[in-house]
Amino acid sequence: MNKQRSVVHIHPLLWVTAGIAVFTGFFYDLLLLFLIVLLHELGHAAAALHFKWRIKKIELLPFGGVLETPEYGRRPLREEVIVAAAGPLVHLPLMLLSYLLLAASVWKQADHQLFMHYNLTLLCFNLLPVWPLDGGKILYCWFCSRVPYYFAQKIMWITSCLFLCGLMFLTLFLFPAHLQAWIIMLFFIVAHYTEWKQQPYSFFQFLLERTQQKHKKNMEPVLKIISMYERPLDVAKQIHKNKRAAFYIKENRQTLPESYILDTIINKRAGLVPLNDLLKKDKTDMYANRK
Ligand SMILES: [Zn+2]
Repeated sequence: MNKQRSVVHIHPLLWVTAGIAVFTGFFYDLLLLFLIVLLHELGHAAAALHFKWRIKKIELLPFGGVLETPEYGRRPLREEVIVAAAGPLVHLPLMLLSYLLLAASVWKQADHQLFMHYNLTLLCFNLLPVWPLDGGKILYCWFCSRVPYYFAQKIMWITSCLFLCGLMFLTLFLFPAHLQAWIIMLFFIVAHYTEWKQQPYSFFQFLLERTQQKHKKNMEPVLKIISMYERPLDVAKQIHKNKRAAFYIKENRQTLPESYILDTIINKRAGLVPLNDLLKKDKTDMYANRK
């Protein structure tokens, strides 16, 4: 029989927080908060399913939720922006709904205020330009649309670190004793450290998937000027996520397609051999084949 595993996971830390909330009398507040977080994540999931993304799981944590999908970084920028924005967008109709429920006397002013407070906090918090929040993901897509993938990764990391430092200073001055704020900061510091370590692998993964992408033909072409003394791995740093590159070698006026560079790195494993050596070898091989 097929074992169907649930997509929505509840992190053990959330059960602990829920237990504490029962004892301290904040259970109703917590329930409301997690209902909003769940709807936020379902917003991302609905957009992801619309674009036929695979979803691994939706995990609910005490400070928010995470939609795990293997598709981030592989899909067109437009899809990635829409999926990232779909979560925060959910809060707008929810806030409108709260006004309607208040007007219809379904719930009291206190419920409305609490609901609005949670929605506004989650909306603003998730739109912060910090990785891996939704705002960070949208900003990353914007960088990817402006500069090559390799540099977009670096610029995003530095920008995110600067915003994180700003957030930490604000927390230090405004809420120095806010334990939950410091736990969230710690989560971000670990996420930034992991992301820095992960960057070379992510770049290689980007190149690997680039060789298999089918929608590349529809991309806008871009011509990059390179030197024949450069190595394919350095040349590949000029590949944009949303553009199909060709490389013009200034010394011999030859133009190489992006696929030549990718094939050299991925299939021939010669990413560190200077281009002039590779081209010389290609010529010798061609001559040998003719003979
Ligand atoms: Zn989100």
